[in-house]
Amino acid sequence: MAKFKLKLVHLYPLFLNLYGDIGNIITLQKRCEWRGIELDIQQFNIGDKLEEGTDIFFIGGGQDRQQVEVSQELQKYKSLLTQEYENNSVFLGICGGYQLMGEYYQPHDAERLEGISILDAYTVAGSNRFIGNVTAEADYIQEKNTLVGFENHSGLTYLRGDTTPMATIVVGNGNNGIDKTEGARSKNAFGTYLHGSFLPKNPHFADYLIKLALQKKYKDNIELEPLDDSIEIKAHESVLEKAY
Ligand code: GLN
Repeated sequence: MAKFKLKLVHLYPLFLNLYGDIGNIITLQKRCEWRGIELDIQQFNIGDKLEEGTDIFFIGGGQDRQQVEVSQELQKYKSLLTQEYENNSVFLGICGGYQLMGEYYQPHDAERLEGISILDAYTVAGSNRFIGNVTAEADYIQEKNTLVGFENHSGLTYLRGDTTPMATIVVGNGNNGIDKTEGARSKNAFGTYLHGSFLPKNPHFADYLIKLALQKKYKDNIELEPLDDSIEIKAHESVLEKAY
């Protein structure tokens, strides 16, 4: 019988799962399993009913046309998702999913897509496409504060209010190629432009999210048993080498 149990809801995997973002779910699943933490993963698609009591939400990236469908669907669950955000559930949104965690995404040739506003941020389609390896630094991660990934987006995201960057850009463009911010954080909600997928190459960040989710559910600062991350760190360092 697992001592710790967490529930993860994967939002709209049939629409937003471009660039292998499912690798983030697999990483969380394995890193919990290797520590005897039971992670119940539920896929949530159009037509499903969203219940309360989720510890981790994940939403992946996608092209503008998939974002149109998901944007409309998300509005039905905006108040429930906001309530979960206020209750410190962990959210991780990648690229297109990240954009819909903000107030809106304005594509080039479509109506403005409304987001759920758990991040105080907005996105407008830019004239260039940012494509390439990214390295960034997240000083709140103790073990290791570099984050690596691959960006592929035309959206330019701007943060407002008390929403802070997830990381500071070292190499690459990040949110908008101007202010050196990458991604966003508000409470336990995180958004990032880092594909790759993101968590397999950043095991320290995956563990940071698992710890936040355990803390939210068990109200205790639970230390995670260390794992052999030699392969993950090799993958992390291979991006660092390519990026410089
Ligand atoms: N369609 C959005 C953009 O181009 C998101 C792309 C993505 O999820 N990679 O900015």
